[in-house]
Amino acid sequence: MTTPCHFDSAQLTFAGSPIEQARCLLRTVKRAGNVDEARANLPPVLSSLLANPPALGVTKAQVRSSLQKQGIAESKVGGSVTDRICHANSDDPSAPLARYFVIHDTSFKLEAGQDFDPHFINTAAWSGNKLSGLPDGKTHIYITPLGETLTDRTYGTPWRATQFEKPSTRFRGLFLHHELVQPRMGPGNHDFESPDPGFTPVQYARLALQYVIAGVRRGAWMVPVFHCVLDLGIGDHDDPQHFDLAAWDAALQTALAKVRAEQPEPAVVAVAMGMAAPSAEGIATRARRTKPRTGGRANASKKAKPRKKAAAAAKRPSAKTSVQKTSAKKKSAKKNSAAKSRKTKAAPKKRSRKAVQKRARKRGKKEDKKGIKKSKTRT
Ligand SMILES: [Zn+2]
Repeated sequence: MTTPCHFDSAQLTFAGSPIEQARCLLRTVKRAGNVDEARANLPPVLSSLLANPPALGVTKAQVRSSLQKQGIAESKVGGSVTDRICHANSDDPSAPLARYFVIHDTSFKLEAGQDFDPHFINTAAWSGNKLSGLPDGKTHIYITPLGETLTDRTYGTPWRATQFEKPSTRFRGLFLHHELVQPRMGPGNHDFESPDPGFTPVQYARLALQYVIAGVRRGAWMVPVFHCVLDLGIGDHDDPQHFDLAAWDAALQTALAKVRAEQPEPAVVAVAMGMAAPSAEGIATRARRTKPRTGGRANASKKAKPRKKAAAAAKRPSAKTSVQKTSAKKKSAKKNSAAKSRKTKAAPKKRSRKAVQKRARKRGKKEDKKGIKKSKTRT
């Protein structure tokens, strides 16, 4: 049997440098969950990022600006990019921030008579591409072959989605989970046949964007992990199948170039020139200040909700009414002095963030049975 990667439970880390960890945790996953013993050869972009993880070379403000230009709501990519990600030990502030970026595939078995024809599986004709049909409480982010994403749980929410994490709540929050939707086939109850290529270019592009967002929110690049390798010896999952590391690396290069093309902040230029580095909190504060008053604010204030609730809210006419109410409140606030106006806006924002964290903690406690339980859909 293939040797699992050595994990130091006390320190909540795998053995070796980030590059050595990734070379072990990204070993090729073959058919039916057979993993290569040989370490993976990391492609160039990933190698360079993991050689010095704290050297992000990109800011939250740049990510936010890039997302706005692409018309991608932050609520669809794990929550506000200025929020931190979760800590391990069920979001214990004294535990390390999430370190590992887990890559899965969500196996949806095709119906009788269906096959891997790209004109079918990579279009809206295949039901697996419907965001509304994806299971709740399985992961942080879903990414479909159409390049659409869904926040199942925000990056601020500690969530377990593997057998590896099951033994201890200390592991809850150490991993961020990404489900690449993939159709499967197989005889009887089996579903080990997967398409080749396993994923679409837009799926790799969006996974790359998630990696950039997660790293920037963490303040350092995360170590990528394949689910099957993480669960070696303890699980029966085989995902991801036909994952092309080189294709993801090329997508990472494109995603980084796109984000870095956004106007850097003066402080970032100062760091590049060898001056004092700003604190993470400082960056977050500036990012909030530079936020445009319209458009971006609406995106940033949206908190990801469990999908069913979000969908229900969208259908309810009252959802629109509440936006109108907020708008009316703002207009009313404008009539007051500028100072008073700022206070009026800041107060509800603080309450809202605390409320969101409280809800996240509550959800975390309920998570296990639901998140780890086996189901027809293998994640
Ligand atoms: Zn998985």
